[in-house]
Amino acid sequence: MSVTEPQTTSSEAARRHLLSPAEDMAKLGSAARPLLRHAEGIHLFDADGRALIDGPGGMWCSQIGYGRQEMADAIASQVMALPYNSPWHSINGPAAELARRIATLTPGDLDHIFFTTGGSTAVDSALRFVQYFNNVLERPAKKKILVRYRSYHGSTELAASCSPRPQASPFDTADPKIVVLSSPDARDRPAGMSEEEHGLALAAEFERVIAREGAETLGAFIAEPVQASGGVIVPPANYFALMRAICAQHDILFIADEVVTGFGRLGHWFASEAVMGIVPDLIVFAKGVTSGYVPMGGFAISDRILARVSGEHAKGRYFSNGYTYSGHPVAAAAALANIAIFEREEILAHVRAVAPHFQAGLRALRRYRLVTDVRGAGLVGCVECAGDDDAMKQAIGARVDRHCQELGLVVRPIVNNCVLSPPLIIKRAEIDQMMDILAKAIELTEADLMAEDLWPKSI
Ligand code: PLP
Repeated sequence: MSVTEPQTTSSEAARRHLLSPAEDMAKLGSAARPLLRHAEGIHLFDADGRALIDGPGGMWCSQIGYGRQEMADAIASQVMALPYNSPWHSINGPAAELARRIATLTPGDLDHIFFTTGGSTAVDSALRFVQYFNNVLERPAKKKILVRYRSYHGSTELAASCSPRPQASPFDTADPKIVVLSSPDARDRPAGMSEEEHGLALAAEFERVIAREGAETLGAFIAEPVQASGGVIVPPANYFALMRAICAQHDILFIADEVVTGFGRLGHWFASEAVMGIVPDLIVFAKGVTSGYVPMGGFAISDRILARVSGEHAKGRYFSNGYTYSGHPVAAAAALANIAIFEREEILAHVRAVAPHFQAGLRALRRYRLVTDVRGAGLVGCVECAGDDDAMKQAIGARVDRHCQELGLVVRPIVNNCVLSPPLIIKRAEIDQMMDILAKAIELTEADLMAEDLWPKSI
């Protein structure tokens, strides 16, 4: 590109030069996404200055909401004090302090923290730790990773390989290292089976897979407490305790991917112990740790696990995995300010107080014929709409989204699943407003489908 090229508008610049995540390649250069310039509290403002409720909370990350002066101040003062240090050769105060703070928030003995640049790199680093762990323990075959169908763990090659989804992928995967288990999805539960029996059946499947593969080949099990991008799938109540016990029995590391559920989404710093009743070996976090103000991720790891491969047990090895921006001082300062806001405003207690109202509002949408399922926990939920095939599901999701936007709400349809995970500071009245808009958008979509003679045959 010539430097003398004339100035263009941002949208035009995006159309010509920006390759975005999940780019529709058939439309490259012809379609631009909405250009956002400003956000405040729970609202995004469109190009005409219209306020829209941020239903998905950015990408499940805008916990404390937008426009916080305190965040700007913490970030700016750290930029002036020390904007960068090489984590390979030195440490910085905010990263050390943040590690200490997070260690007080994690369950059990998960008291060491490794920082990365986001969720995918955190998952990747946790999985590389599994390789380090078993190589040092001289168990080179114990490396396969157990994952669940419908998971999403990120976009590095390894994290993406751990994310088996119904949608066809144009990418290659690290298949030989991955073993796929069923999703704990209530929609797959055979008729007549109770939730508890479903949990037991999933655990029995896990044991069968271990018998088939051999525990000596299985290094880790990775699981989101709630399968978020997979469609907000909440497992049976007994599921995680059963899976945890099986992992412990076979020395398979249990990695909880709390990239979405960490930092308040389910009303607790982490959901593993408080909601799922288990203490994992590693917890992966990102998103909410800075409320999306700057990128950061990481994992917390059990001291008991670390002790097995450190000190004299390290056999002189380095955990030589890391990033130029591991423990970035500006990101760490932002995370500390974010945590301070959580505490001062008692955001976790607020989430626990309003979550039942949010979930009841979502469940009330079942009154519409177009709505085939409603799922959720804490301040995350999903309204699934009908559709006879993938194209129709996609079109219906897009239609609900468009009506919502016109009425002042952004939703994030994953095909026909309208996902809501609003900023955690959302008030009861704003939850009502969000539900009213969604209800109206569903009514309008039903009316469109009737008028166009497109009503799904499946309902
Ligand atoms: N893990 C989970 C559960 C996620 O939902 C995501 C992203 O949505 C990731 C990992 C990847 O995080 P990032 O996009 O920050 O790399």
